[in-house]
Amino acid sequence: MKMIDLRSDTVTKPTEAMRQAMLNAEVGDDVYGEDPTVNRLQEQAAEMAGKEAGLFVPTGTQSNLLAILSHCQRGEEFIAGQQAHCYRYEGGGAAVFGGVQPQPIDFEVDGRLDLHKVAEMIKPDDSHFAITRLLCLENTQSGKVLPLDYQAEAAVFAREKGLKLHLDGARVFNAAVKQKVPISEITRHYDSVSFCLSKGLGTPVGSVLVGSYELIERAHRWRKMAGGGMRQAGILAAAGIYALKHHVVRLAEDHQNAKALAEGLSTIDGLDVELDTVETNMVFVTSDLETQPQLIETLKERGVLVGGYGQLRLVTHHDIDAEDVPVVVEAFKIALGTLPS
Ligand SMILES: *Cc1c(COP(=O)(O)O)cnc(C)c1O
Repeated sequence: MKMIDLRSDTVTKPTEAMRQAMLNAEVGDDVYGEDPTVNRLQEQAAEMAGKEAGLFVPTGTQSNLLAILSHCQRGEEFIAGQQAHCYRYEGGGAAVFGGVQPQPIDFEVDGRLDLHKVAEMIKPDDSHFAITRLLCLENTQSGKVLPLDYQAEAAVFAREKGLKLHLDGARVFNAAVKQKVPISEITRHYDSVSFCLSKGLGTPVGSVLVGSYELIERAHRWRKMAGGGMRQAGILAAAGIYALKHHVVRLAEDHQNAKALAEGLSTIDGLDVELDTVETNMVFVTSDLETQPQLIETLKERGVLVGGYGQLRLVTHHDIDAEDVPVVVEAFKIALGTLPS
């Protein structure tokens, strides 16, 4: 049975063509700066983002960590969303490794951080307080795309307040494809941007951090300390170069599939689908909490994998085709039918 795995866009497997690119990659020791393929990926990523430099890292978590540690000193703080990956889902790394404290605030329903609320959280210059140094935004945030004019506003705000601005752009290519702009239209507002190659772009491993030469130099030092200095990493970087060339435009298909999936599921009794928030490749569905574990289990028996805590999250990606959508909708209908009511 073919499994339709909607738990995350991280489950994508490298295609044959991507594997060929990896197989043929020219490599060297990247700790000596001698891996030509890593260097090419970093240059390409920086150029696409309109930044001076890029750094290839194993994970998005490490990329965000290096960014925070490079912007902030001990005793300083960063402001981020309460549900932001860099605050909630990264083990408190910036506090553990850097003595940098997070100041979380709630996201608005559309994934923005209200800049008035951010302003209220900036600490006064007084020895009682940590020094507020950095504002982190996330785009996409749970599949929602930040408006371009909001990001422009955030950049002006950050400059006025003397803050650095970082984007956790794990899925920034989904945002750019949705808004039909090159990613530089988004990334130009930020001092640093992290994006994942291993999600919708479909590589097995890797993220890239981009920013100024100076910032990337500091991040490079932190990467070594964090154990992220890899050797013949060009094998992995080759997948990234391939993905940037061949897997960006096709993200639009994932967005169409997510929309179709949301519409299909919204016709089923017993499911509450957040149709309005389906902007890119994520669909959030609420079902009866008590029977949810059973629903997930029954779907699995029918070849459909979904995840979530409380709310189900369905993510479309490279390994999900348009033909899978009606199969998933049918599986939900049948699975819900078998639940005790
Ligand atoms: C996935 C993700 C990351 C990084 O995840 P890794 O698994 O460490 O690569 C960072 N931010 C967001 C918003 C993410 O979705």
